[in-house]
Amino acid sequence: MTTTPPHQTPGVWPIYGHTWASQYLQRALQPSGDVERTVRLSHAYLFLGPPQVGKTTFARALATALLCHATTAAPCYGCRACRLMALDSHPDFRMVQPTARVDKEFVVDRQKGELRAEQAEQLIRDAALRPMEGRRKVFLIQDMQLANPAFANKILKTLEEPPAHVVLLVTAHHRAALLPTIVSRCQVFELRPLDPILVRQALQEGWQAPPNEADLLARLSAGRLGWAVDQLRHPERSEERSRQLASLWRLMSADRVDRLNFSGELAAQRDPQSLFSLLEVWTSWWRDVLLAQAGCHDACSNVDQQERITHHAGQIEGRAVQDYLATLRRIEGYLRHTVNVRLALDVLLLKLPEA
Ligand SMILES: [Zn+2]
Repeated sequence: MTTTPPHQTPGVWPIYGHTWASQYLQRALQPSGDVERTVRLSHAYLFLGPPQVGKTTFARALATALLCHATTAAPCYGCRACRLMALDSHPDFRMVQPTARVDKEFVVDRQKGELRAEQAEQLIRDAALRPMEGRRKVFLIQDMQLANPAFANKILKTLEEPPAHVVLLVTAHHRAALLPTIVSRCQVFELRPLDPILVRQALQEGWQAPPNEADLLARLSAGRLGWAVDQLRHPERSEERSRQLASLWRLMSADRVDRLNFSGELAAQRDPQSLFSLLEVWTSWWRDVLLAQAGCHDACSNVDQQERITHHAGQIEGRAVQDYLATLRRIEGYLRHTVNVRLALDVLLLKLPEA
């Protein structure tokens, strides 16, 4: 998903936040002779950061700037290349994304797919051909952490010595999931979550979000603008959050049988996205309860539920809240690797503090 704002200004990077990174790239893209060039363009860039923090948006902006026909350090949005990029049909730009595969066993992380050897072979063949429109060809490899060993090994050589007209852009969640030889061949940009104030501002200016909604989404986003924009565009997601919170509150006073039934239903859905979204909503809830217990009401994310946060903060012991937050973290990690989703969810439900 990309979060390019609807209004693009010629000559301005279409990016909220991450200013240090866009300034660095602008210097590298500056037409030579304009200023003293202290930064050189690299043939490979790696964008690291949590999901939906803006890695793909950033990489696409860089791709547009690299392909743009204007001699500015930012996309002009008027030339043929910029227009083709906006239409997602520039012949010299390719996205390489993990492809899903159907597994007999339900392993949550594997449902997201893989980057496979044949995709690397295709990229290498494409990269060898001359660009069709301009001087460069840009490839964007998304979610490199999902590359299988064959893909990673095949791509290494191209990363080291790509044809002169090729720029490779790579995104990944974190450095530890990649071969060190991949990281060392790229210019690395680690994108950090944005300040919620900036997310709120961006939602209001770029996407015309009403102030209350912008504030709530900015707080819930944990600094991931892409996540916030996604929620804004899909109002059904906020209904999902309401349901996830309602089931949390209900299950706190439910007995063992009810809790295990819920766990069974959740496991049976085999839907990793809704599973992780539930964990995220529950985690943000308990963090708020903990913050309220420490007297930091202003720092809470679920600002539309202050009354209930205060109620739970007074009712449940701080120790139990901390323990359950640790359980949520542990189960989340476990779910990414286990085949026994049901067992993990049973533990999650049985350890839920009672109200
Ligand atoms: Zn242009």
